[in-house]
Amino acid sequence: MFRNLIFDWSGTLVDDLGPVIEATNAVMDHYALPRFDRVRFRHQFRLPYREFYHDLLPNIPLEELEARFRSAFDTALTPVTVLPHAREKLAWCAASGLRVFVLTSMDTTAFERQLDDLDLRRFFEATYSGVADKRERIHSILETHRLDPAETAFVGDMIHDVETARHGGIASIAVLTGYTLPEILAASQPDLTVANLDALQKLLDKPSDPECRCKPLTPSRSAACA
Ligand SMILES: [Mg+2]
Repeated sequence: MFRNLIFDWSGTLVDDLGPVIEATNAVMDHYALPRFDRVRFRHQFRLPYREFYHDLLPNIPLEELEARFRSAFDTALTPVTVLPHAREKLAWCAASGLRVFVLTSMDTTAFERQLDDLDLRRFFEATYSGVADKRERIHSILETHRLDPAETAFVGDMIHDVETARHGGIASIAVLTGYTLPEILAASQPDLTVANLDALQKLLDKPSDPECRCKPLTPSRSAACA
């Protein structure tokens, strides 16, 4: 059974795809590049985002792009909302005694504001934001909080999240509510894929459910879905 869950933020707990595309298009407009629609963005966007921007604007310093993005994000018209089932899932984690963390690439100022605006801060033991490459932080989080890798999973919506879990030696749980299209996410071979956090909660809540068809996990992790 997982005792510790590390969540990604965007596309996993909150829906900020609308304002992120708005802000990205503000950057595109500034440099006279074609705008993104939702489908093309979900095909092309990836983390670490420096690689995404390097492909598009290799000669522009990342700091300049980040400043333009943040300014546009702060004034975006589309609101950031809590994804369906996320609040219930976090409440379930609290009631079940699970330790819960956030690891996100989102700019810390924007993230801290969303934590309070969406009334989610109380659910997390600790949060880590502004982390450009999550692989470089996952080991220190496990060590700082003395999290047993065999009892810990990283829940996220992008290939980088799966790769971060793998890098940290913990289970990877992919959710299909976010930025990455399912067929692209599947190529990264997460340990478990769920349509949304409600499906994950049901799997974790019913460890002996015979209908569970998730990919087999290692013995130490099998209680989550055995
Ligand atoms: Mg995400």
